[in-house]
Parts: sequence; structure tokens; C-alpha cells
Amino acid sequence: MLLDLDRFKWVNDSLGHLAGDDLLQRIAKRFLSCVRTGDTVARLGGDEFAVLLEDYGKSSKVIEIANRLQQEAQRPLLIVNTDVHVSASIGIILNTGNYLTTEAILRDADIAMYRAKELGKARFQIFNRKLHELASQALQLENELREGIHSNELLLFYQPIIDIQTRSLVAFEALVRWDHPRLGIVSPNTFIPIAEETGLIIGLGEWVLREACKQMQRWRAIHPKVAGIKINVNLSAKQFLQKDLGQFVRSTLEKTGLDPSLLKLEITESAIMEGGNKTVDLLGDLQKIGIKLAIDDFGTGYSSLSSLQQFPINDLKIDRSFVKELAAQEESKEIVRTIIALAHTLNLGLVAEGVETEEQFNILKELKCDCAQGYLFSKPLPVGNVEGVLDKYIP
Ligand code: C2E
Ligand code: CA
Ligand code: CA
Repeated sequence: MLLDLDRFKWVNDSLGHLAGDDLLQRIAKRFLSCVRTGDTVARLGGDEFAVLLEDYGKSSKVIEIANRLQQEAQRPLLIVNTDVHVSASIGIILNTGNYLTTEAILRDADIAMYRAKELGKARFQIFNRKLHELASQALQLENELREGIHSNELLLFYQPIIDIQTRSLVAFEALVRWDHPRLGIVSPNTFIPIAEETGLIIGLGEWVLREACKQMQRWRAIHPKVAGIKINVNLSAKQFLQKDLGQFVRSTLEKTGLDPSLLKLEITESAIMEGGNKTVDLLGDLQKIGIKLAIDDFGTGYSSLSSLQQFPINDLKIDRSFVKELAAQEESKEIVRTIIALAHTLNLGLVAEGVETEEQFNILKELKCDCAQGYLFSKPLPVGNVEGVLDKYIP
């Protein structure tokens, strides 16, 4: 079995490394108490453990132990006067008889463990053929993405963001697509996670920013109407771990000549929280040179309202899940009302995402939301189709 602790990073970051070490030692002792004398419990590194159970015969026995390990991981630990709750994601290989190398066993246990994490953590997953296929498909897609980035298969679509009071265009959000030679247009929901896991996101993110700024300059050159329109670009949490992100953004603006005040970067709450103070500082620096910042998918993360006040941001984008239920659920309307009141108190602009119906639009208008984005106005469009939006939404 391979065990990876869920939320360990959080303990390390919030309570410090000594607390993290303490937790690992105590959890390791608990794990030892779950197995027989001849079995092995090892720490592989970080918060990852391997458990080798020998000659158990019945798989139900193994599952029983997996459950016990899970319970031991979940039992609260008192660390630095704090009750700490973690859990474990466990990947299990039931039969190692067919394996030729230890590496192959660990690789498949790792695949199963990741699957357990993907399925919501705090659970175990037994390795099987299907998982093997999924993993090799993911590997193939990764290699194709690497190739695709080099051979210019990426492109940007643009979705208008509309001022609710005037129904006029205020910005475009750039949304990346992959024009795959075999699969056609691939959604970013499929390939961004792969890019993030493999580090390809850095090059991909740089390309997106450069291309979006260039495109904006092209439009500005040919359409006088585009003058005040902003461009929103998504940044992945992983891009903040890069130390020269600030420098890259600045040099991209210089090279393309785009005015910093026309660029808005969209980041999720969790990206800011994970990056900690360094990210907050970096955002502050970007804001000083005039770039605007928006929190994406607002309401789905876990930032506290008090930390919101400390983030250097300009806009909140209300997540689509709230807008979707706006007309049907009174609660969603109340949540949106509260987010809007909060944003106005903090002097933040607001964009409602995923507005699909006039009914949703009218409720947002009544609630005094600033801007809306969604299929009601337009889907994300390839460059060639943006002309129509300019004519329709710029007076
Ligand atoms: P997001 O930033 O929340 O982008 C909005 C998503 O909602 C887009 O999906 C858009 O097509 C979709 N959408 C917009 N209006 C509506 C609507 O009315 N109804 C519905 N059902 N959906 C609507 P898309 O383009 O598939 O992008 C998915 C996600 O991929 C984005 O979510 C963003 O997190 C990520 N992404 C896209 N482009 C980039 C990029 O260049 N860099 C990074 N790091 N992430 C990106
Ligand atoms: Ca976004
Ligand atoms: Ca969003």
C-alpha cells in the first residue's frame, strides 16, 4: 500500500515544520500498531508512507487493515495546542506476483493512490487494469500536449464581459483551447490539470498571456471602439510558484505595448491561499504598476472573509454555481446578495459568471451586480468571430 496524508501541507504551512515532523512521527507509530510484526511500514518521503503486508491470503484482510490505517490517520492529534485532523489516501496492490520490479509495484500503487485522491481523498483504491489504461491515456495526452504547445496547436477564444446597467462590452476573458490533431478542440478542463501536474503550465501560461496581449493590441489598432476594453487572463496557482512571474508579466506588457491598466489577471482564492504571503506581495507589486486583479470562481474556495480584505484585488467573479440556481433557489439569491454587499463594502467590482437567461440577468440587475458574463451574451469565440460582439455591444 502507498499512503499519502491529505492536508499535511496545510499543517506544515500553518503550524510550522516542527509540528509537521511531530505529526509524521506520531502517525507513523499509529500505522505500526495496525500491522503484524513481520510487516513493514516505511516513510518514503514527505507525507508518503509505504506498507508492505506479507502473506495475507485473503484480500478482505488487507482491506480491513486499510480501514484501520485510515481510522488511525483520522483520529485527531493534539499538536501545538491545536486539534489537527488529517486523513490518508491509500493505493493498494493486492497481488505483487506478476510484477518484475519494485519500481513497477510502486508506480501502480502510486496510480491507485492518486485515483483515491481524485475521488475525494480519505479513501483507498485498489489497483486494476482500468486504472492502468487511464494512466497510460493520461501519459499519452501529456506527451501530445508537450508536442502541441511546440507546434502551435493552442489557441485563444474570447468571451465578452458585459456591464449590466448599460449592456455594453467592458472586457474579454481569454480562454485557452487545444486544437488536437485527432480529437479536435479540447477543453481546458481536460488539459490544464495535466499541464499543471507536469509543469507544462509555465510555458502554456506564458504563451496565453503574450497572445492575449498581442491580440488586444491588434484589435486596438484596427477598431477605434476597442479603446477602453480590458483583457482578462487566467493564471494557474502553479504559475505563482515561479519566482519571476512578476518580471514576465511586466516584460510582456512592455514588449506588446499594452497599457497595464487594460490587463486583468484572474486567480482563484485557493491559489492566493496556497501561495501565502509571497503571492500576496507579488499581487501587490502587479497592482502597483496598474494591472487589475480578480478572484475567479468566488464562493467555491475557502478564504475567510477577513483575509479577503487583505488581498490586493479589484474584482470578484461570482461562481457559475450560484448564478445557475439564482432563479430557482431563494438561498442562492441570498448568497449572491451577500457577496454583492460584501464586494461593495470592500470597494470591489463584481462579475457574475455563467449568466444564461434573461431571468438570471434581471435578478442580478436588481441586486446591483456590476457585470455579467455568459452564454446569454455570447459563448467564448474564436478571434474571427469577435467582430459581431464589437458591433453589438459597443455603442
Ligand atoms: P473559468 O475561468 O471559470 O472560465 C469560465 C468558464 O465558464 C469557461 O469554460 C466558459 O466557457 C464557461 N462559461 C462561460 N459562460 C458560461 C455559461 O453561460 N454557461 C456555462 N455552462 N458555462 C459558461 P472553459 O473555457 O471551458 O474554461 C474552463 C476553465 O479552464 C476556466 O474556468 C479556467 O479555470 C481554465 N482556463 C481556461 N483558460 C485558461 C488559461 O489560459 N489559463 C489557465 N490557467 N486556466 C484556464
Ligand atoms: Ca476565469
Ligand atoms: Ca470562473
